[in-house]
Amino acid sequence: MATIRRTALKEVLHRKAQPMNELKRRVSEFFGENTFHIDKMRECLTDSAYKIVKSAIQFGTPVDRSVADQIATAMKDWAITKGATHYTHWFQPLTGSTAEKHDSFFKPIGAGRAIERFEGDMLVQQEPDASSFPNGGIRNTFEARGYTAWDPSSPAFVIGKTLCIPTVFIAYTGEALDYKMPLLKALYAVESAAKDVCEYFDKDVTSVKATLGWEQEYFLVDSALFDARPDLMMTGRALFGHEPAKGQQLEDHYFGSIPERATEFMREFEYESHLLGIPVTTRHNEVAPNQFECAPMFEEVNIANDHNLLLMDLMDKIARKHNFRVLLHEKPFAGVNGSGKHNNWSMGTNTGVNLLQPGKNPKTNLQFLTFFVNTIKAIHDNADLLRASIASASNDHRLGANEAPPAIISVFIGTQLSKMLDDLEESISAGKMTPEAKTELKLNIGKIPQILLDNTDRNRTSPFAFTGNKFEFRAVGSSANCAHAMTVLNTIVANQLIEFKKKVDVQIEKGEKKDEAILKELQTLIKASKKIRFEGNGYGDEWVKEAEKRGLSNVKDTPRALDVWSRKETKELFKKLGILTPIELEARHDIELENYMLKIQIEARIMGDLAKNHIMPASLEYQNVLIRNVQGIIAILGEEEGRQAARTQINFIKSISKHVNAMNDKVNLMIEERKKANVIKDVRERAIAYCDNVKSMFDEIRYHADKLEIMVEDDLWPLPKLRELLFTR
Ligand code: ADP
Ligand code: MG
Repeated sequence: MATIRRTALKEVLHRKAQPMNELKRRVSEFFGENTFHIDKMRECLTDSAYKIVKSAIQFGTPVDRSVADQIATAMKDWAITKGATHYTHWFQPLTGSTAEKHDSFFKPIGAGRAIERFEGDMLVQQEPDASSFPNGGIRNTFEARGYTAWDPSSPAFVIGKTLCIPTVFIAYTGEALDYKMPLLKALYAVESAAKDVCEYFDKDVTSVKATLGWEQEYFLVDSALFDARPDLMMTGRALFGHEPAKGQQLEDHYFGSIPERATEFMREFEYESHLLGIPVTTRHNEVAPNQFECAPMFEEVNIANDHNLLLMDLMDKIARKHNFRVLLHEKPFAGVNGSGKHNNWSMGTNTGVNLLQPGKNPKTNLQFLTFFVNTIKAIHDNADLLRASIASASNDHRLGANEAPPAIISVFIGTQLSKMLDDLEESISAGKMTPEAKTELKLNIGKIPQILLDNTDRNRTSPFAFTGNKFEFRAVGSSANCAHAMTVLNTIVANQLIEFKKKVDVQIEKGEKKDEAILKELQTLIKASKKIRFEGNGYGDEWVKEAEKRGLSNVKDTPRALDVWSRKETKELFKKLGILTPIELEARHDIELENYMLKIQIEARIMGDLAKNHIMPASLEYQNVLIRNVQGIIAILGEEEGRQAARTQINFIKSISKHVNAMNDKVNLMIEERKKANVIKDVRERAIAYCDNVKSMFDEIRYHADKLEIMVEDDLWPLPKLRELLFTR
């Protein structure tokens, strides 16, 4: 009997690349064609309505009902020309992906007639039947229902036959039930704090926007092989599989050309992305076989994040058309690199200045230095929050596994800038500064651009690295919603900038010169944040020891990393800035613990099923083949000579029994531990029990299964092997 694996492999043999129709138009001609962006609104709205919506987009001002009606009509008419028949409020529940509920434009009006109707209230507010989305008890506590509300700052778009309207998802009592709402609040906080600080340097700055450029890593796997792996289907990662003889040692994939089938897939999803205004520009192979990356031009954080979520969705849909499946899991395969999603982050002003880009004169350099140093201080003070913002069951496999940044948060800025900060720390004197000292300082600061020009050092091992004109947060997981990390980063920087401004203002009021007050405060910050700066190898064991000496946290698992959400300081910080209330924080903490626990629970179940229903039967089948063989040999040669002649087979028979027994015993133990964990009431304790007592057995179960894989006759093995998943294309 052919295994499902054999059938799948045969199918893959006949795969061909599916070329897209040749594009007749340039990208610039169709970019954003399927979005209802601001220019389209200008065409279809009255001047006054256009002004109102523009202000809503830029400053978050409200849109009244009559204007909403006008926009809704324009949006509907436009969407119908694009072939849309339905509309949906598109939102980001705390499960991680996106959700939508489709409603038809079409409304029967009696007497066999119908119209297409879509009005302001349908645009602005909707009530999804969302009782099954996680809400961490908020809904129960308040007996609240949730509703979605339009986010005018992110353009609506048409996919297929549906008009999708980006929205936030909130309880009737006001609590956020999604990722977008707190992100918007955090962005508002950082943008207004940054604008206030900019007043020291340039009065023309009236608005600041935080920017995000993500880089999305992923694996492509043939869909037939994927379908033959229940673990990949249900958990996104291979729970079993012996490491292939060849992994990524040769790095030939990284430098090689993109295989044709994959190229065709990429061309199509890039085309679809461009229609939706997602500015995807780069694509390349990654380190592991069948691993790839794509990245867009950076955008305002909220838009960039919506675009990332949309892209992950698109990739999934289009991959299926090409007989691929996209794996966004952080660590789908043991033995080769996992996937991350670098978050490049900065802030830009309405005057076109990147606040993390050193300028041309001492004044703009002091501005750069201000934002640069304040960001470092924010990371220093809130490293645990940043760590928690990227914690997930799947990212736990990657952080600290010598392929991704460690779970220790640190900041890399390069030798030149480190020296610059050290010099500053030394040269600013406590009392009144002499004119000579000030001139010298300014000269020093003036040198930053040249310093950076020669600054070629890059540190791939740092979780948070300065890369010339932006910071790159590298520890974000490939499957994550960036909103989580971005909410925390922008909140902590906002808080730091507000504190900074307060301190400097006090000194200025006391009569100190502005520049001097700024420099002195920067000096204080440089001193106070020193221990978070690390220029060495973040993958090395020495760093773990050194970090411990410095008192930096190194929390390796998610349930414990999440503890920071319930700290008093965290609640105060998020409340003070109006990002999340203590109740919302607690709800989120619970949901994340619950998500973690459920993920491990599912993995444990699949692991048990596969061990008992796939791996054990295949192993015993092969053992029976061997037993019959030994019996036959003994029948011919007699007991003594037969045993001697069949000694290899006999050893295999024993070895198979040993591994089958050990695997099965361990699975049974794991099931016992699951039962114990399941009755623990406290969600944190339960998550920790899953982490310490259930997940901790995975490796050993896998060890025996993987041993069996290399013993059992290839034809009988039921699950596609890692080399097949990684190298067929
Ligand atoms: P690399 O790091 O590979 O040298 P780049 O410097 O071009 O590449 O940038 C990598 C990513 O950083 C891209 O996704 C880009 O959009 C993003 N990026 C560049 N500038 C900014 C910025 N000011 N704010 C946010 N992201 C940025
Ligand atoms: Mg990068």
